[in-house]
Amino acid sequence: MPHPSIHRLAPAALAAATLLAACGGGGSDFATPFVDSALVLPTAAAPRFTEPPAGTSEYQRHLDTATANAGTEFAGEQRRQWCYSVENVGAPPELQNTTVVPMTRLFDNLYYAGRRWVGVYVLKTANGYFLLDGQNTLADAREITVPGLVAMGIDPASFKAGMPTHGHGDHYNGLKHMQDAYGGPVYIGSADAAALSATNPRNTTAFAGSATNFITTTALPTEVLTPQTITVDGQALTVLSTPGHTPGTVSGILPATIGDKTYKLVYWGGTGTPTTLPLAKQYLDGAERTYQLAKAENVDGTIHTHPFVDGSLAKVDAIRAGTAGGRNPFLIGNASTLRSLSVLRECSAAKVNALDATVVNPVWLTTTVEMVVSSLTSGSGDNHNVSARVRISDPYGPVANAAVTLRLAGTTGTCTATTDSTGVAACGLLTYLPTKGKTLQASFDGTSTAAKVWLGSGASAVLN
Ligand SMILES: [Zn+2]
Repeated sequence: MPHPSIHRLAPAALAAATLLAACGGGGSDFATPFVDSALVLPTAAAPRFTEPPAGTSEYQRHLDTATANAGTEFAGEQRRQWCYSVENVGAPPELQNTTVVPMTRLFDNLYYAGRRWVGVYVLKTANGYFLLDGQNTLADAREITVPGLVAMGIDPASFKAGMPTHGHGDHYNGLKHMQDAYGGPVYIGSADAAALSATNPRNTTAFAGSATNFITTTALPTEVLTPQTITVDGQALTVLSTPGHTPGTVSGILPATIGDKTYKLVYWGGTGTPTTLPLAKQYLDGAERTYQLAKAENVDGTIHTHPFVDGSLAKVDAIRAGTAGGRNPFLIGNASTLRSLSVLRECSAAKVNALDATVVNPVWLTTTVEMVVSSLTSGSGDNHNVSARVRISDPYGPVANAAVTLRLAGTTGTCTATTDSTGVAACGLLTYLPTKGKTLQASFDGTSTAAKVWLGSGASAVLN
């Protein structure tokens, strides 16, 4: 059978057709990509949540979306904690729990130590270590961080730098001890630098017994809202200015290693929503940029220096107890990381409406992709039609008019289809290359209306 001429093919098949032409010889029974009619998706599960009816307040719409996005994965503590200061007066009771958590190795290069309500992450670097936050008191730095470092074989004197996530004492006090004892820069969002200086009267009490009443700081420009990099002992660290909880709060990413593999963990620097509208809007903007950063950087999990907020404390406990099983509980994957941050985003949007009911922000809905795939081979065995049928859903049901792209790993072949009213789309592509064992990736880049943003999602399957 002659090769198909390229102009007869749909654009999506051009790459595959080019391969066919280039390889010469071999029969081709598939001139046009098609969808394997045997591909049937399982019946759609009933949506777990019901969309808030028309007329629901903006505030409630965002809280409901936070609940829906949390789903079963984050239905308990995370949903409650991310929205705590939106729905409650006062601080969460977990902030009262001062039980010590001794230095715990979470990854080859990352440790947690402190108390159950607040603590520090120690990032081991080539010749020393970096501290994210500093402990609530100088005594805790002296009595928890320092002996913990020694227990882990890290010389406390090899302190290379520290950074409180924001200018509240429970995050920076202990860095006073570390800097006084070992030197080293302390980074801080510029709008919070004054909090660590001698002009802040509380430091005279908090730093009692020290020779000075300030921490020497290196300011990171708060007004720069794109990711910034600080380099500590040769290690580049991504930091993101996220003002809101305080004017100079920073969030960011820490690298976490297991053997020769490096993962990424995102932290949200200041939990506790502001009580003024301008700050609440900044907090929301920071949550959105942190989501986008975690997406762009394909982040693998979250950490929090108030470790109960994002479930980190339970993971530390599991590692300490040896009940984490064969996998590191912090590595929840990018989809779950983004799901957690989508709950934070919706809680942040609800807070804006708690302060001004008239503000309208679209809700950010998480989505999921289900997929069935096949590869059909031509009679001559050297031409393959790869196809998939996918369904895209949000917590309330199917997502219509969503563009899905299929990519076959190791080839340039792609195809694109748009979901129907049942959220289903299907397309096929041709390739001359063997498909067995290759991964077919379906991706939905997200879409939006004035009222809703559907967040992107994906799925992959290995072809038989
Ligand atoms: Zn704070």
